[in-house]
Amino acid sequence: MEKLREIMVKDQIEARGVSDERVLRAMRSVERHKFIPGIHISSAYEDHPLPIGHGQTISQPYIVALMTELCELDGDEKVLEIGTGSGYQAAILSLLAKEVYSIEIVEPLAKSARTRLAELGYDRVQVKIGDGYRGWPEKAPFDVIILTASPPRIPQQLIDQLADGGILVAPEGDYTQELVKIVKRGGTVSKKTVTYVRFVPMIHGD
Ligand code: SAH
Repeated sequence: MEKLREIMVKDQIEARGVSDERVLRAMRSVERHKFIPGIHISSAYEDHPLPIGHGQTISQPYIVALMTELCELDGDEKVLEIGTGSGYQAAILSLLAKEVYSIEIVEPLAKSARTRLAELGYDRVQVKIGDGYRGWPEKAPFDVIILTASPPRIPQQLIDQLADGGILVAPEGDYTQELVKIVKRGGTVSKKTVTYVRFVPMIHGD
């Protein structure tokens, strides 16, 4: 399994230009196959997204690595993730930041991710069942916010919960989605498009 992860990192991630050593180390260490129920172990390390039940998917390893690198984590940050899914991205983030708060709208996914993360020892992650459009105001501000489901437009509520100097990384759009990086500094918000992506839509709660 370690070998499979090494190949995944070398061929899918480093080869496409992700170079942050800490990110690569985290990708080598988290046991991706333990986050995908019922999968054949080797499939967990292939170069594409995979179903995790309830019509949802775990992202392609490269996209997880790219988005993590864009977050520029150095270990002290408080991070908010929208779309816990399997908990895999949250596990990666937790190795690189201080605290990870993750929101999942599908209750059974949130519950199984919570159990899985606890069993695997990723104790810096807290999972909440809820609607990510609202963010997690009680824990704000966040140094980094990452969305792993795509809203038609980045919700202002989330930008409001970003700390000064904070970074938000997210897919944005309906059919055509851009991966964007937003930096908030001194009350101004700058945004750039990194690439084009295909995520599940971010759905609205009640
Ligand atoms: N980061 C996940 C993959 C996420 S797939 C992983 O590493 O496995 C996107 C997830 O976002 C799905 O689980 C979906 O249920 C969730 N989601 C969609 N809309 C949401 C919303 N409004 N709030 C919170 N989670 C949402």
